[in-house]
Amino acid sequence: ARNPIIIANWKLNGDIDLLCKSVASFIRKYFKADVVVCPPYIYLREMLSFLQYSSVAIGSQNVSKFESGAYTGETSAQMLKEAGCKYCLIGHSERRSMFRENNQSCNIKVKSALDSELKPVLCIGENAEERDAGVTRDVLFRQLSEGLEGIEFNGDDILVAYEPVWAIGTGNAASADNAEEVHCFIRKEIKALFGRDVAEKVRILYGGSVNKTNAALLLEQKNIDGLLVGGASLDPSHFMEICQVAD
Ligand code: 13P
Repeated sequence: ARNPIIIANWKLNGDIDLLCKSVASFIRKYFKADVVVCPPYIYLREMLSFLQYSSVAIGSQNVSKFESGAYTGETSAQMLKEAGCKYCLIGHSERRSMFRENNQSCNIKVKSALDSELKPVLCIGENAEERDAGVTRDVLFRQLSEGLEGIEFNGDDILVAYEPVWAIGTGNAASADNAEEVHCFIRKEIKALFGRDVAEKVRILYGGSVNKTNAALLLEQKNIDGLLVGGASLDPSHFMEICQVAD
């Protein structure tokens, strides 16, 4: 069985006050589900230092495709590993649409994260235009096959997050049925690319307007193994309720 995983993506939000409130809510919380918080880079170390009496892990929202050198403003996978990150989001739709990420840059980043023993969470998802044009499956297939090209994938070292762009930050989450259907498709494609064992093991998260009200039904679906939470993760008590649903 695949252990459920809940990831908070703070995006470019939060401050020391939120950091304090958030870690306070996690003190002495040992979840059976994996719970991960991805704050902005600058808060990672401090957050981790307060999470010692808790099972909550930290992850980054991005990673550089470079290892070191003259790349002002970048942060490498090795640095994130050293800072204590376990996970690393790669190819979030906001990075694809606003920071020119594409399947090729995601592929390099996935490899770089794996080399530093971070677990990449490859984010994929169609936008409204692509959905309306009926090309969702083609888009997802390309994001998966190109993003994971040439990678040795054993099943639990990489996670996939399905985040339909039209559902992000809109309050309009995919229905549980609709998300399950897409997750089923994603698992099938992973099976075709990497084999049955990998497809059985890989955890596929759903993201896009997840909240405490829709979390349970989403997580009940056979192929939905976790949730990637944006807005609702900025309220520690709200996020805690979502974690408890998964537990
Ligand atoms: P919202 O939960 O705010 O829709 O954001 C989802 C998301 O992008 C998480 O990575």
